[in-house]
Amino acid sequence: MPLSSPPLAAIKDDPDDLLFLEERKLPLDADGGPLAGPVWRILIVDDDADVHTTTTFALGNLEMQHRPLVFLHAYSAAQARELLAREGDIAVILLDVVMEEDDAGLHLVRFIRETLKLVDVRIILRTGQPGYAPEIDAIRDFDINDYKTKSELTRIKLYTTVTAAVRSYEQIRAIGKSRSGLDRIVRAGAELMALQGVADFAAGVLTQVGGILGCAASGVLCVHDPLDPTEPVDSVPQRLPVVACAGLFAPLAGAALTAQAHGAAADALFAIGAALAARENVYTNTAAALYFNGKSGRDFAAYIPLVQPLGDIEKRLLEVFCGTVAVGLENVELVSHLHTAAFYDQLSKLPNRTRLVEILDATLAGPARASSILSLVDLDHFAETNDALGHQFGDLLLAAVAARLQHCQGLNLTVARIGGDIFSVLGDAAVVNPEYILSLFATPFSIDGQDVRVSATMGLVRLAEHDGSGADALKDADIALKRAKVQQRTGHFYFSRSMGVEIRERVRMMHALRTGFAAGELFLAYQPQVDLVSRRPVGAEALLRWKTADGTQISPVVFIPIAEYSGLIIEIGEFVLRSACQELVRLRAGGHRDFTMSVNVSQVQFRHPLFLQMLRAALDDSGAPPAFVELEITESMAMEEPQQLIEMLAEVKRTGVSIAIDDFGTGFSSLSYLQRLQIDRLKIDRAFVTEITQSARGSSIAEMVIQLGRNLGLSVVAEGVEDERQAHILQALGCPMGQGFLFARPMAPAELDAWLLANTPA
Ligand code: C2E
Ligand code: CA
Ligand code: CA
Repeated sequence: MPLSSPPLAAIKDDPDDLLFLEERKLPLDADGGPLAGPVWRILIVDDDADVHTTTTFALGNLEMQHRPLVFLHAYSAAQARELLAREGDIAVILLDVVMEEDDAGLHLVRFIRETLKLVDVRIILRTGQPGYAPEIDAIRDFDINDYKTKSELTRIKLYTTVTAAVRSYEQIRAIGKSRSGLDRIVRAGAELMALQGVADFAAGVLTQVGGILGCAASGVLCVHDPLDPTEPVDSVPQRLPVVACAGLFAPLAGAALTAQAHGAAADALFAIGAALAARENVYTNTAAALYFNGKSGRDFAAYIPLVQPLGDIEKRLLEVFCGTVAVGLENVELVSHLHTAAFYDQLSKLPNRTRLVEILDATLAGPARASSILSLVDLDHFAETNDALGHQFGDLLLAAVAARLQHCQGLNLTVARIGGDIFSVLGDAAVVNPEYILSLFATPFSIDGQDVRVSATMGLVRLAEHDGSGADALKDADIALKRAKVQQRTGHFYFSRSMGVEIRERVRMMHALRTGFAAGELFLAYQPQVDLVSRRPVGAEALLRWKTADGTQISPVVFIPIAEYSGLIIEIGEFVLRSACQELVRLRAGGHRDFTMSVNVSQVQFRHPLFLQMLRAALDDSGAPPAFVELEITESMAMEEPQQLIEMLAEVKRTGVSIAIDDFGTGFSSLSYLQRLQIDRLKIDRAFVTEITQSARGSSIAEMVIQLGRNLGLSVVAEGVEDERQAHILQALGCPMGQGFLFARPMAPAELDAWLLANTPA
């Protein structure tokens, strides 16, 4: 409640009327005590009671710098000491020099400055006689504001002297306050920067504002997105999400200030709205609305209830603080976005590979290592599901799997998403074991109201046995996972040291393959394909062989993956295609004019940018008619990157060659997709041919593939036909062609010539 200005005009006009001004009462509160609020406290120390009365009478109802004066009284130096030890925030002391002793006042000054260390309080010495003036040194040393004889101090002089002292006190305090305030801001800045995330930072801001204002943290800090399309332009925001809150506003955690709010929350919304609109701090006597200018489009604002109106210094300090904070908030926002992007998977919100490696490193360095297991959990046939049912569905499925794995996070596990359909679970062996983790997949996942069954394969590493880094542990888990997938028996595999040996073995083989290929150890064998009804040869599949210098044969099942892995497959594949084309030309020259040549093409080859060019060159150079050349691609390969494959196959078809899908039935092809692929032939996988005679399921899958071929107008070849019963059943089911040991093994060209001679009816 600011009072009106002091009657300075009256003082100037008629100084001697001062004492006769209409006496105004100090503002009193309901209890009759002085009203709470800023006042100047003046201590009068004098052994003459009259001096007290005249002083209060002269100054009592005046105010200085918009504040009333309040007087404290001491009638001796001893009493003053006692009072000073008890009372704080005294602006001015009017001090009598001569009291108990001649220089009691001077001793008191020394006590105030040196013992009590009160350096801010202004001291005005008064003495009865000029003879008792203190040394000039004392005035300087003890920071005495003024020295006056009592007779000198007319009422008007007393007023101006005390006013000057009050001003000086105010300035000293302001400098001290802003110095410590600035110190505080610098410290606050450093403390705030150490906090992670916007919410922590914002909570820190509220604490620091409390610190600057010298009160407990209280208030609410909101974020405002002016680009939010739901916000009407240029009006009081309707909804401000709360980022941090404290004190009275603590219940707003996680909520928002809305137009429906009432009470303090409504005040806060209104005040924050005003600060956001003005784009600056807005103060009232009861609250401060602080504005933090966000440079990236979003603004922040805080509402701080006040115990008393803020002074200019406090406002200026807050301004400086808000500037620092705005920059800080923005950085924290950026950093936390970067942090989330760098360490967390967007889709599942789980830690990603990078974060997992950090956690692994920490686990390996700590006591948990002894009992911890790192596992990779790979969803079976996810790529197929994704293609068949759409990426959106796939994403929902991944999120559902993430949620289920995370559900057991209460058991002190780290669940992360490593990429694609591979998750990781890290934790105690009691929980992280195939029995438990795979049991989580026993219940179907509910996606879009549909029950979806997903199985998983696991690779595991016992950290106690691991002696490398976190990244190495992850690599080992990946090796174990690959092994588990190849084995396909138990659905899981624990990494063992011997697997590291295997890797060295593979590297050794890679070198051997390179030198062997250069030395001409690789060649082709040809396995005939026959018409199941007439048993006439219709073509052959070219199959790669490797016979090392010491005479050992290495299976393509072993060395093709190594050739693919090392990139050697590009050169080897070209050699295969050229050799097969030459063999086709040779056979045609031998009279086998309707004979087709099937060539296996691996995914790595197919993806190579120069594949088409290489294919055209091989056809041109050999003179092989493209219509009699067929490329076999595997079904799993046909499932990846559908659009790219569709376009690529269209290009391949333009050269005139035909396309077969190898190992058909092992993957999961959708019908509509198959139709768009422009393929010519399906090869029934050997496993389903074997099933015809050796499994309870019998011929059902072979039957389905044959049916599918018929419906799509595709040719069908059954591979791996080993006995007559299989051949007979396949023929009865309408399968036109077969390939297998029953008819012929893969053969060298000379053998093939003999076989063709023996098996081609005249
Ligand atoms: P694939 O394309 O499915 O080849 C058929 C495999 O089944 C061949 O094994 C063949 O010898 C074998 N086979 C044929 N008839 C029978 C039978 O009646 N019973 C049994 N048990 N097996 C039979 P191979 O030659 O060991 O080739 C294995 C795999 O290596 C091939 O599977 C193919 O994926 C790959 N491969 C072979 N040659 C090449 C090549 O030149 N390039 C590429 N990229 N891959 C090749
Ligand atoms: Ca094949
Ligand atoms: Ca096959």
